[in-house]
Amino acid sequence: MIPTLSLIVPMHNEAGNIDTLYQRLANVLSPLSVSWEMICINDGSTDDTLNELLKAQRIYKEICIIDLTRNFGKEAALSAGLDFARGEAAIPIDADLQDPPEIIPQMIELWRKGFEVVLAKRKTRTGDSFVKRNTAQLFYSVINKLSEVDIPQDTGDFRLISRPVIDALKQLPERRRFMKGLFAWVGYKTAEIEYERPERFSGSTKFNYWKLWNFALEGITSFSDAPLKVASYLGIMISLLSFIYAIKIVIDTLLFGNPVKGYPSLIVAILFFSGVQLIALGIIGEYLGRIYAETKQRPIYLVRDIWPSEKPQQLKKMDD
Ligand code: UDP
Ligand code: MG
Repeated sequence: MIPTLSLIVPMHNEAGNIDTLYQRLANVLSPLSVSWEMICINDGSTDDTLNELLKAQRIYKEICIIDLTRNFGKEAALSAGLDFARGEAAIPIDADLQDPPEIIPQMIELWRKGFEVVLAKRKTRTGDSFVKRNTAQLFYSVINKLSEVDIPQDTGDFRLISRPVIDALKQLPERRRFMKGLFAWVGYKTAEIEYERPERFSGSTKFNYWKLWNFALEGITSFSDAPLKVASYLGIMISLLSFIYAIKIVIDTLLFGNPVKGYPSLIVAILFFSGVQLIALGIIGEYLGRIYAETKQRPIYLVRDIWPSEKPQQLKKMDD
């Protein structure tokens, strides 16, 4: 039987959240009488997550477990969830209850009205630290200036996407997946609802600032080639300036002779240009690395096991 709704829950060390998450989902969804499945992707957890999941799965028939062979990262886990989702619509949702299940009925209502994507937008980010809020804002303004798709601010992966959107996402072949950008890239008719983002229920965040910085770089290089152009514009500008400076030197020499000076300007010029060259090389390297990753054509994730095991449609998918 095909469920109406697939909830996609990436989990990396979330043992303490599974029961509460299931209960809150069940409380919200059972009065609506929609059929649903909860696809839990165990993304290389090192705690008791898998055991807790197996325990819960024996009791609750909605739970389906995809056990990945190691920690592939949240984006890969989400991709796995989308591949295995059978619902007419899917909702990626964090395991830590920072995405409140209580707004799902609103999402479903808008979906029934004909919207293909229903975004959940954070009204406030009180659950996040001061630094995270501000750097997030900076990230959105940079990426939205640089890339041709608009990535909506203050929305995470928590959103309802209908079957056509899921299928569209599955067609995107890239290995390095910046899901927020991919969601935006596919388009479709989109509605928005707002919610208050609470703090994590239990456990701790998996994203430190270094990871977030890399995530931001990933987003920008996936969805914009503007940094590549920056290198050339900078080059042109600097060449122009040094040309003007060269003329000044010639004139100086003609008018005032040529006393031995110029060491400071020389050293400044050398250091400055070396810096610019290194930056340009770095930018090129960043994109080259991405091309390298894509050409290897490795799968986005590997599955160790699936529960319940009788899912003919998906098992076939794993064979081919
Ligand atoms: N997550 C994952 N793999 C990872 C890191 C995180 O599946 O490598 C999951 C995590 O279990 C949670 C969701 O992604 O369900 C969001 O993670 P987290 O709450 O740590 O992020 P934050 O809310 O702090 O941005
Ligand atoms: Mg969280």
